[in-house]
Amino acid sequence: MRYLKWKEEFLSPEVKEKALSELKKVVVQCKACDLASTCTNKVFADGNPNAKIMLIGEAPGADEDASGVPFVGRAGKLLTQFLSEVGFDRKKDFYIVNTVKCRPPNNRVPSDFEKKCCSDYLSAQINIVQPKVIVLCGATALKSFSTKEYKISDIRGQWIDLFGEIKAMAIFHPSYLLRNHSLDEGSPRDLTKKDLIRIKNFVEKN
Ligand code: SF4
Repeated sequence: MRYLKWKEEFLSPEVKEKALSELKKVVVQCKACDLASTCTNKVFADGNPNAKIMLIGEAPGADEDASGVPFVGRAGKLLTQFLSEVGFDRKKDFYIVNTVKCRPPNNRVPSDFEKKCCSDYLSAQINIVQPKVIVLCGATALKSFSTKEYKISDIRGQWIDLFGEIKAMAIFHPSYLLRNHSLDEGSPRDLTKKDLIRIKNFVEKN
C-alpha cells in the first residue's frame, strides 16, 4: 500500500481537529470505488486524534456501517474490554481507523484495488494524528502494509518496521478472539493481553 511520507512538524490539537474535519468531508463525498454504492455510512474514525496509538483494522462490518463508528460490534466490544483490562481507555488512548472507510458487501475482505483507492485517506490520518505506535489489528491490516508474507500468529507481539519512525505491532483481530475463548497461558486471548501490555509499557516510556 502507498504510504505518504511522515511529516516531521508538530501539529497542535487545533490543527489536527481542523485537518481531520476537512478530510472527513472529503471521505463522506468519496465515490472512488464501488464500496460507496453499497455502504450506509462512511466509517471515518473513533477516539482521540492526540493519542499516541493508532489502531488500524480491516474494514467496517454491519454494526460499524450502521453507526459510522469503527469497532462497535461484538468484536469491537471485546476489543474495548481487552483494552480496558490492561488499563487503556479506548476513547482517550487510541485513534481507531480501518484500511477502508466503507463496508464491503457481506463482510468480504476488501480488494487490493479498494484498499489502494482508500489508502491516501489512511495515510493522511496517520500524518495528521502522528502516532508513536501503530497497531495492526488482524491479518488483513497486516497484509495491507507488509510486502513480506508474515503469518500473524508468527509476527504478532513483535515490533515491526513498516512506518519509519512509528513503531508497529500486529495483534490478533478480536473477531478471532471471539472464536477462541480460552484464557490459558499461550492462548490467543492470553497472547493478545500480553501484546497490549507491551504496547502500554512502550507508550508510557515514550
Ligand atoms: S472505501 Fe474508501 S475509496 Fe472506496 S468509496 Fe469508500 S471512502 Fe472512497
